[in-house]
Amino acid sequence: MAENRMDKIVALAKRRGFIYQSSEIYGGINGFWDYGPLGVELKRNVRNAWWADMITEHDELTAPEGAPQPFDMVGVETSIIMHPQVWKVSGHFDLFADKLVDCREKKARFRADHLNCFPIHGEEFDGEDDLDVKTCLGFVSTTETVEEFLPQTEKKGFVKRLEKAFGRDKLVVGTHPRKFLDLTPDERAKVLAPDVETVGTLTEPRDFNLMFETYTGALQSDENRAFLRPETAQGMFVNFKNVCDSSRVKVPFGIAQIGKSFRNEITPRNFTFRSREFEQMEMEFFCHPGESLQWYQYWRDRRYEWFVKLGISKENLILREHTKEELAHYSVGTADLEYAFPFLDAGEYGELEGVAHRGDFDLKSHMEGKQCKEDGKLVVEKGPDGKPKYAGSGKDLTYFDDQTRERFLPHVIEPAAGCDRATLAFLCEAYHEDTAPDDKGELQTRVVLRFHPKLAPIKVAVFPLIKKDGMPEKAGEIYRAFKKAGIAVAYDQQGAIGRRYRRMDEIGTPFCITVDGDTMTAGTVTVRDRDTLEQIRVPVTELVEHIRGRMEQ
Ligand code: ATP
Repeated sequence: MAENRMDKIVALAKRRGFIYQSSEIYGGINGFWDYGPLGVELKRNVRNAWWADMITEHDELTAPEGAPQPFDMVGVETSIIMHPQVWKVSGHFDLFADKLVDCREKKARFRADHLNCFPIHGEEFDGEDDLDVKTCLGFVSTTETVEEFLPQTEKKGFVKRLEKAFGRDKLVVGTHPRKFLDLTPDERAKVLAPDVETVGTLTEPRDFNLMFETYTGALQSDENRAFLRPETAQGMFVNFKNVCDSSRVKVPFGIAQIGKSFRNEITPRNFTFRSREFEQMEMEFFCHPGESLQWYQYWRDRRYEWFVKLGISKENLILREHTKEELAHYSVGTADLEYAFPFLDAGEYGELEGVAHRGDFDLKSHMEGKQCKEDGKLVVEKGPDGKPKYAGSGKDLTYFDDQTRERFLPHVIEPAAGCDRATLAFLCEAYHEDTAPDDKGELQTRVVLRFHPKLAPIKVAVFPLIKKDGMPEKAGEIYRAFKKAGIAVAYDQQGAIGRRYRRMDEIGTPFCITVDGDTMTAGTVTVRDRDTLEQIRVPVTELVEHIRGRMEQ
């Protein structure tokens, strides 16, 4: 059922021009997506709603509800390719890597931490402890969980594969898997990889950096090696001083940016959820260390409310605080905003946004050199020669508060959202199937995208009831009035009116206006509401203001 719903959303997204596979006519390219005529508007509306909330509608004179005090917010747009030292100091060069395992036979590639290995025993096995290496003939590996995997081990094909691989029959599959990464090299050599019939086809795990590499300038030499940014955040950290010196901001304040990021994900999947090229909406909020926990809580709650205000239901959205084990070594607290995407099983959630308390890790690293934790404290990480492993800029990035006369390194709160994931969540949340009357008044199933009016790609559609009696001309006038007012509008005079409504419902247009006989005599039109199906008559002279008012509700 869950899969079915997702399939329908993906099909609709393609059919109506929201999202296409990139380079589709050549068979596509895995992990890359294109937005079509409606998708580009939807995504732009998501981006604009975020930017308005962060920057253009932000009032720096008054503290927003829940905020400890008023604060400044500014934006930047920084380059995708940055000085390579940025990524060494930020930790991405060393740490932004997953361990990968290849299957020599199938040429398949797995994330090592996704491989579960179930011990295989002979029939003499008494079931006491299935991790016991003495009775273990080897391991069978899978990327599935215990619950998903064990039922499959009963199947004929699976039993045959096992017998062939281990050269014995009457084998017993243990119920306690071990992680591939936890096995010794000898044990790894006895692993049967997914879909193959001989053991020992998996390579040792090796690091795979997720950053895309390129070269600047004509020479493809090591000195010219550069990276496509894997996050936009570093653009704000390296410009902290510039922004302080060139604008009138005072701590606490935030720097926001929207832009593309790139990660060479090993297994891009779930439509646009995990892509190799994606857009982020990130904000770095610089504050006094003593006030940082308050700001962390403020931003965490405010970001949750942003999604709810734009139509994500609270049943589908959770705010999950990271456990101590999950926290990055520099982080004092991190919470994920997670959404119940339809491609996940019931009760599972996927990350939409992370809100992290990053302490002073980033500014300190860019000032002194890459930091690491020693005895609970951040210190410069040393190389084998005792010098900083990755040198910082050496620039003073401290902040001087001229009111309190205090100099300090600000702490940072970072709400980091994915624009594509947010767009996908809004699309999934909007998808509904219900019934509406057709032209004969009979109830028919309809697909409707219930977007918040702020996000809907088209806000209003104008239809002449028939193609004569001056109706198309009148409808044309109304259409142009909306264009002039900057409200996204569509015009449609093809087919029965019920079909035209349905076409608009399917792309989430909140209001449909029909010009009919009464328009010509009484100067009113019908305005139909996408969700309630209610139709009211509104004077043409008040139409634009009427729709504008309802969009704000
Ligand atoms: P994940 O655990 O899902 O890989 P992450 O924790 O690495 O995500 P962050 O580095 O915190 O993600 O990035 C911030 C946001 O950027 C994420 O919450 C997500 O919305 C978005 N994002 C990250 N990676 C991808 C991707 N490969 N495709 C689409 N969006 C992404």
